Amino acid sequence: MKNYRESMQDKKRIVVKIGSSSLQHVQTGDLDYIRLDVLVRELCNLRNQGKDVVLVTSGAIAQGKKAVNIRPKDLEENPIAVKQACAAIGQARLMMTYQKIFAEYNQVAAQILMTRHTVDNEMNRTNAQNTFDELFNLGVIPIVNENDTVATHEIEIGDNDTLSAVVASMIGADLLILLSDIDGLYTDDPRKNPDAKFVETVEKLDDSFMKMGKSSTGSGVGTGGMSTKLHAATIATSSGADMIIANSSDIRIIHRIMDGRNFGTLFVANKDNEFDLPAYIAKLHED
Ligand code: GLU
Repeated sequence: MKNYRESMQDKKRIVVKIGSSSLQHVQTGDLDYIRLDVLVRELCNLRNQGKDVVLVTSGAIAQGKKAVNIRPKDLEENPIAVKQACAAIGQARLMMTYQKIFAEYNQVAAQILMTRHTVDNEMNRTNAQNTFDELFNLGVIPIVNENDTVATHEIEIGDNDTLSAVVASMIGADLLILLSDIDGLYTDDPRKNPDAKFVETVEKLDDSFMKMGKSSTGSGVGTGGMSTKLHAATIATSSGADMIIANSSDIRIIHRIMDGRNFGTLFVANKDNEFDLPAYIAKLHED
């Protein structure tokens, strides 16, 4: 029998999530084209192996802010409206860049923007699932983000770690890779506790692991900390997908993982037929 890592080679439907901080230069906040190029090349190579591939990308708000030079004081009066306007600007810019690079690799990409309605409302959910299916039939790579321009607190999923797990669940993916600015899960915050130990594999995601989550993110951009990643892991594994948190410092980690090598923290799929995705998302918002 293959071990968990070797079985990565057999995965057929893969969701890859990348966060804002992994896409931009630390010094300026402008897009890092080399990293974007490597990301797109890795995804196209998976597609060329006949796998279904989805990219969940952040960066809309961050790139919109850059485009119109938003400073902290511009956010004082109506921060939500400013952020939503920035998302409208930045999402289009981001897609333009992705489309260009995907085209260089002869790959067609599509955009899907979601809100919580896409999960809660059965008709919306079914429509979204049909769209994903049809895109896979056509050999297209869907690029997903939250529809930040319209998603106010009441209808938002809230962060792209959760969004990517929702997508993995909705499309019956067998693997979700969360690219992050950390190596994976540690028993405690490694930036604060030198004794924190790295966790390679989580076979059963119980409360002891959930407690290891810290709601902090090292980068100051994006929204996900370890806590959101552990909720994402609950959604993904309960829906039947393995999930790996891996460091995006070298994006070629994607093919190394797919080759079965030991990178990041693997959360092993543990399908729960009773798992209720809309109820889980609603509960996250209450907490
Ligand atoms: N959807 C947001 C954006 O694209 C980012 C959310 C997140 O980073 O979790 O700007």
